[in-house]
Amino acid sequence: MSESPSYSKKDRIDDLIERERNPHREPPVRITGLMVQYYHVCRRELWFMSRGIDIDRSTPNIQRGTHTDETSYRDSRRSFTIDGRIALDVLDDGDVMEVKVSSSLEKPPRMQLLYYLWYLDRIHGVEKSGVLAYPRERSREQVELTEDTAISVEETLDGIIDVVESDSPPPLEKKPYCDSCLYQDICWL
Ligand code: SF4
Repeated sequence: MSESPSYSKKDRIDDLIERERNPHREPPVRITGLMVQYYHVCRRELWFMSRGIDIDRSTPNIQRGTHTDETSYRDSRRSFTIDGRIALDVLDDGDVMEVKVSSSLEKPPRMQLLYYLWYLDRIHGVEKSGVLAYPRERSREQVELTEDTAISVEETLDGIIDVVESDSPPPLEKKPYCDSCLYQDICWL
């Protein structure tokens, strides 16, 4: 008979929510929007980041993304930091906005935005809609927290805790964007 796991996914997420709601109880992992994005880009990248191995943020690619994020829609949005680690922008009409340079990778920024909506709803009881914007491509996408998307967020959070709590990085697996990844020098040694 196989051993039953020491927790169920639901128990783990319920525990995370309870701890996040209580200012005196630390969650098992302090999950940021960037971690959600990394999880869907490359779990190995997430593991490096969780170990304090950070990338050089002065590179042109990163600066281009930061510049687009900082300069787009700046007259119609306000920035908020929640619980000292969730940083998001809210438009004048109340929607939460995430600005990206390119839509080449759609899932990671969508999940990041959904995590913000989930966090506002589940931890603080604030219901919001989201907008994913690609100003350079002149496109916007409406993003909503539904029963299905909330389940996707919770599966992501469960997966992130697994990666971060692991003693070693996930196995090396070549991805189409490895050549432009800023971790490649330590990843493929
Ligand atoms: S080089 Fe490839 S496998 Fe390594 S962290 Fe970057 S994307 Fe992931």
